[in-house]
Amino acid sequence: MKTVDMFKRRQVVSFEVFPPKRNAGLDGIYQAISQLKALSPDFVSVTYGAGGSAGSRATIDIASAVKNAYGMESVAHLPCAGLSREDVCAFLESLREAGIENILALRGDLAPGETNTGDFLHASDLAAFIQERGSFNLIGACYPEGHPAAESKEEDLKNLKTKVDAGVTHLITQLFFDNAFFYDFLDKARALGISVPIEAGIMPVANRKQIERMTSLCGATLPAKFLKMMERYEFNPIAMRDAGIAYAVDQIVDLLAHGVDGIHLYTMNNPYIATKISEAIASIVSA
Ligand code: FAD
Repeated sequence: MKTVDMFKRRQVVSFEVFPPKRNAGLDGIYQAISQLKALSPDFVSVTYGAGGSAGSRATIDIASAVKNAYGMESVAHLPCAGLSREDVCAFLESLREAGIENILALRGDLAPGETNTGDFLHASDLAAFIQERGSFNLIGACYPEGHPAAESKEEDLKNLKTKVDAGVTHLITQLFFDNAFFYDFLDKARALGISVPIEAGIMPVANRKQIERMTSLCGATLPAKFLKMMERYEFNPIAMRDAGIAYAVDQIVDLLAHGVDGIHLYTMNNPYIATKISEAIASIVSA
């Protein structure tokens, strides 16, 4: 099923997982996926190359298992930085063979000073290329606080419109910890004519190091309330985990009450956290 069709039914809840860095971790990811299945997400997306994890084969294999072995809808991420047209065509062929219909079309992160030597400059170029080659459903990334490399939030939104016009049917946001950024972004996106469903990306915080690594990459603002929580519980892993779950649930309930199209949970391959959050919001989604 194409993810865009899911929003016609109800508020969508989806999960993101990442391939392990080494093959040795594959058992762990499949165990996590089988536990995530019990939570009946609308779809599970599988990253590619993010955070130094394994390459395209791992993404295709795991996305294929999500769909064909575990019976959930899957989304394969595809960051195009450094890729040639031939690389992308080979990736598309593997997805076709696995019956995967949904692709999160991304540019990918560039190291400081690095130039993109691939055939695609922006995610919108990749989306347009794939759009011409078959019946994939395309998803795109978006940034409530603006992409860190964008000249301004306004420029970033104009570029986002280009991406949607290139064939992206659904957007997923970068993580954020203050819903005010999301509501402001949503208003501006709608005013610009971006009418596709926008899922809010939520990352439950399990430890301080993880969040500092993530926010140094994506530049998300850490509100005072959030910093207070990390300062108080950072040396008590169980308290930190449970406070992180409570913070994420609080954010999600507020988003659902505001009628958000969907919630995309960055699970960090942690089914315990995904389970606690799913249980807390089960009666609230689409109520
Ligand atoms: P783009 O849409 O190309 O935007 C990148 C920058 O270029 C922005 O500043 C934008 O304003 C600008 N821009 C875009 N189009 C134009 C244009 N036509 N003209 C001028 N400027 C333009 N990375 C991975 O490596 N693997 C993953 O699996 C992965 N998963 C992700 C999942 C989500 C939900 C999100 C939000 C991000 C993910 N990323 C992943 C990170 C992503 O690759 C980076 O954030 C990257 O820096 C930008 O990717 P993009 O697709 O948003 O790029």
